[in-house]
Amino acid sequence: MERVYNFSAGPAMLPEAVLEEAARELVNYKGTGMSVMEMSHRSSSYDQIHQDTQDLLRELMNIPDHYEILFLQGGASTQFAMVPLNLMTQHGKADYILTGNWAKKAYDEAVRYGDVAIAASSKDANFTYIPNMAEVTFRDEIDYVHICSNNTIYGTRFRPDNLPQTGDVPLVADMSSNILSEVYDVNDFGLIYAGAQKNMGPAGLTVVIIDKALIQEPQPSTPTMLTYKTHADKNSLYNTPPTYTIYMTKLVLEWLKDLGGVEAMAKINQEKADLLYDFIDQSDFYRSAVTAKDDRSLMNIPFLTPNADLDAQFVKEAAINGLHTLKGHRNVGGLRASIYNAMPIEGVQALVNFMDTFEKNHR
Ligand SMILES: *Cc1c(COP(=O)(O)O)cnc(C)c1O
Repeated sequence: MERVYNFSAGPAMLPEAVLEEAARELVNYKGTGMSVMEMSHRSSSYDQIHQDTQDLLRELMNIPDHYEILFLQGGASTQFAMVPLNLMTQHGKADYILTGNWAKKAYDEAVRYGDVAIAASSKDANFTYIPNMAEVTFRDEIDYVHICSNNTIYGTRFRPDNLPQTGDVPLVADMSSNILSEVYDVNDFGLIYAGAQKNMGPAGLTVVIIDKALIQEPQPSTPTMLTYKTHADKNSLYNTPPTYTIYMTKLVLEWLKDLGGVEAMAKINQEKADLLYDFIDQSDFYRSAVTAKDDRSLMNIPFLTPNADLDAQFVKEAAINGLHTLKGHRNVGGLRASIYNAMPIEGVQALVNFMDTFEKNHR
């Protein structure tokens, strides 16, 4: 089979050029006589990869020097616990904004470690919009505010101009599904975390970008491995990091830099998303799952046909046409196209062409 357009929500497509480069270097990395997979994480060859990956991310996201970049494991899901364990230490309080499934999971975990409140939620409309942050207020004496910047399942996102106004209180964001997709100002955040497998590389790496002022003594009994300070003190080499995933992430970041960086990527992402949303909006056969147009995700686009049988038929026929993994999440139903950075515009165009044909055949 030829390579297909894979609309999976994650792990997701990687740029083909990156996969080819990795294949060329797989068995013998730059004349070292071994694969990156076989290399000591204490070797100078690996050390260069580790440093280059950090430097590239710092450059691409414009991360100031007073932020530490950590390479951890355990997925974004482990951050749901690490954030409260390490940050809920002055007042034992934090406010969460619930805009979807992952935000709720983060909240449910945090509740175990302190006094946690919901500052705003869009549950009243099945998470189809992002509350207007200008109207949201927070409790006094909280340690941080938590958001999920892009809601992978429901297909909404916090626009960079609709972030919570938290003043001196650190803002924490789960950016797993839209990091590097458009320009956010890192200075607006105290901590950003993201699993790599959506927009940065293969599964196995979790990136944490943390203001050094927040690296402090965690709550008592916090495991060593769940303490940010452990990893910050050792440049994320306290124990064996996911070396090959970090290497793959480096290749993806190089690809992104060659393409012109995050700003250039954002333009392409907007074009890709517009192509799909415009087609859905002009059609009376398909409908978008997200009605608040300004809050629509550029990465995950849930939509529906007139009924569940047609949804299932769509998934089947699309796959035959080289368009894979379009089934919607069970919470929303219908279909979902995840069009992360690595999805070329040709893939979105192929999807729109297929949607047009499917509509004509089944209306
Ligand atoms: C995929 C996803 C997660 C879960 O990530 P894991 O790495 O599987 O723990 C968390 N948050 C968001 C926003 C996601 O998209």
